[in-house]
Amino acid sequence: MNSTTEKRIALISVHGDPAIEIGKEEAGGQNVYVRHVGEALAQLGWEVDMFTRKVSLEQDSIIQHKENCRTIRLKAGPLEFVPRDDIFGYLPEFIDNFLKFQEKNDITYELVHTNYWLSSWVGMQLKKIKEIKQVHTYHSLGAVKYNTIENIPLIASQRLAVEKEVLETAERIVATSPQENEHMRSLVSTQGNIDIIPCGTDIQRFGSIAREAARLELEIDREAKVVLYVGRFDQRKGIETLVRAVRESKFSGSKNLRLIIGGGSTPGNSDGIERDRIEQIVNELGMSDFTILPGRLSQDILPTYYAAADVCVVPSHYEPFGLVAIEAMASSTPVVASDVGGLQFTVVNEETGLLAPPQDVAAFATAIDRILSNPEWRDELGKAGRKRVENKFSWDGVANQLSELYTEILQETAKEPALLTK
Ligand code: UDP
Repeated sequence: MNSTTEKRIALISVHGDPAIEIGKEEAGGQNVYVRHVGEALAQLGWEVDMFTRKVSLEQDSIIQHKENCRTIRLKAGPLEFVPRDDIFGYLPEFIDNFLKFQEKNDITYELVHTNYWLSSWVGMQLKKIKEIKQVHTYHSLGAVKYNTIENIPLIASQRLAVEKEVLETAERIVATSPQENEHMRSLVSTQGNIDIIPCGTDIQRFGSIAREAARLELEIDREAKVVLYVGRFDQRKGIETLVRAVRESKFSGSKNLRLIIGGGSTPGNSDGIERDRIEQIVNELGMSDFTILPGRLSQDILPTYYAAADVCVVPSHYEPFGLVAIEAMASSTPVVASDVGGLQFTVVNEETGLLAPPQDVAAFATAIDRILSNPEWRDELGKAGRKRVENKFSWDGVANQLSELYTEILQETAKEPALLTK
């Protein structure tokens, strides 16, 4: 018997394991997105299976998060961490094991939601062999990213071709901001169906602690001026811009300034090179007295860090969405962000924070100083940010929109698979 249910979905996230610790190596926004979307969909009555690549023998193959929501790890290539640019060749094995899993468990997925271009290729191949519908979220567009980095990887042309094909063939593409939608249309293809549904955040957890209590817990002085970064250590995140801007800040001579750079893993991991580089700049600029690199921050402690900060800085060279900005805003902390991508959508300039041109050290320094020198305005910006997140970016709201989209797609009459009629 076929156990297809009406509300069943496979979320495919080959390189972004939704069950893994966030903030180190390559684990960031995509992992958080898939996990939260999956759990919120399960809450809405969907049966959710999240498929990812297994990276070690010790990892469990199946993790049950909630009654109807689990992570399933499939073997594809070596059982070790492989950087995302090197994964493409292992995808046929991933597909093979995905099909075997379905067969063995007597499950049919009529709908897959793929994440990042690697998974989009998996979805497109599945569509060629099965009657399956595909929703896709890019999380990052090669056409934009390659404009912002110096070393273009070998896989670039493959990626650009796949990103074009999926836009033109998936039942629906989810753009997470109007800016991403624009980029798809101007840089990838004018064909294909796009819906705009943003990323979300946990508005109960972020915003659950006040600044004073947070500072007490982290042993940060009440009078301190706290500048916070949260995120992966990756050059495109622009941490160097932040460090140099804080050096230029008019508060950098005072005893009160604190710069906290959260994220990254222990030395020896793939993100260690950027962490070492940043630490070296901090030392060279004589900032080690007031700069703290606490390493990866767990999702449990993060609300406390955001709440303790006067300002959270997101200095990315390019950012398709940027969960950190809405997490800080949900915590009533204003954001100074690069005037790029999704950050132009989430951060409202002069209302919930300030936007500055990417890599512009002087502009970041001025923006940070404007907020640090005016605590009343800081609080106003913070309040407006909280409101904006409540209205637009709660996971429940986002999952509702996705659920409606999936339902609509499943109800659309299946097109005759012209190529299969022989
Ligand atoms: N994050 C975390 N701990 C850390 C650093 C980052 O939990 O030490 C989380 C952060 O809270 C956010 C995600 O990683 O949810 C980063 O997402 P974002 O979209 O800002 O950036 P990406 O990693 O996708 O480039």
